[in-house]
Amino acid sequence: MVLDRPGTPLRAADLPDPEPGPGQVLVEVAACGVCRTDLHVLDGEVPATRSPLVLGHQVVGRRAGTRERVGVPWLGWTCGTCRYCTTGRENLCPRARFTGKDLDGGFAERMVADERFVLPLPEGLDDLHVAPLLCAGLIGLRTLRAAGDPATVGIYGFGAAAHLVCHIAVWEGRRVFGFTRPGDAAGQAFARELGAAWAGGTDEDPPEPLEAALVFAPAGELVPLALRHLAPGGTVVCGGIHMSDIPSFPYADLWMERSIRSVANLTRRDGEELLELAPRAGLRTRVTAYPLERAQDALDDLRAGRFEGAAVVVP
Ligand SMILES: [Zn+2]
Ligand SMILES: [Zn+2]
Repeated sequence: MVLDRPGTPLRAADLPDPEPGPGQVLVEVAACGVCRTDLHVLDGEVPATRSPLVLGHQVVGRRAGTRERVGVPWLGWTCGTCRYCTTGRENLCPRARFTGKDLDGGFAERMVADERFVLPLPEGLDDLHVAPLLCAGLIGLRTLRAAGDPATVGIYGFGAAAHLVCHIAVWEGRRVFGFTRPGDAAGQAFARELGAAWAGGTDEDPPEPLEAALVFAPAGELVPLALRHLAPGGTVVCGGIHMSDIPSFPYADLWMERSIRSVANLTRRDGEELLELAPRAGLRTRVTAYPLERAQDALDDLRAGRFEGAAVVVP
């Protein structure tokens, strides 16, 4: 399924089999998760550097000719020599290339990937259910870790990343409060089912001040709102790659050592941490499966909020 240019729907195409170059592996795709970033690339808010482009960066497959199961995440290649790469921050490498943006991704039957950036996958979760860990899970965990060791965690926007980080945070003994669009009773019930101690609309106040507020919805107006829910010393962490503008707010809301920060991309170390933690935490994903040729429907349903959890396309 290829994207010819931003703003147009994905198109089914028969492409020649990709040929692995030096250091690359050929992957037979078994499942590929659908991420909000795919929507941002589709819409041109995150600019792709190839055309046509195969989207998809939560790829589960087998190394061609073997039964070895591998995951291909968003971070597809880094330079390995810059200041960021050599200080454990390869997620910020200015020359990094990303799967499904700069490199063809997993909305396909086959793809190639750099051998150094594929992740080994844990047993216990099948192809369909492990796929959303590869971005939603990774970014969710990185977002939580960016807030330190919070006792109380608010989660704003209860999609794929939120449903995974909620489970992890509860498993780690944190009290979680889930925020959805006002009136989204199904979303709030889903948050409580995942262990949230409280769930409500973004127009409501949490029962306790938050030490961390994790914002996954791409709505900038949530940032000052989340800031007002923070305890002194607390942190708002923005987990998305794109967000509408953040409205201004009084300095008093930021004072008392509150902070606002973002997370970007992932490191391979994040992948190792999550994939090691997932089986121990009994991490379960809620998945809606779509055949590959319906990838555009999966993206449309994500945009419209027509499912809970994560969508996965299956070739
Ligand atoms: Zn670099
Ligand atoms: Zn993603």
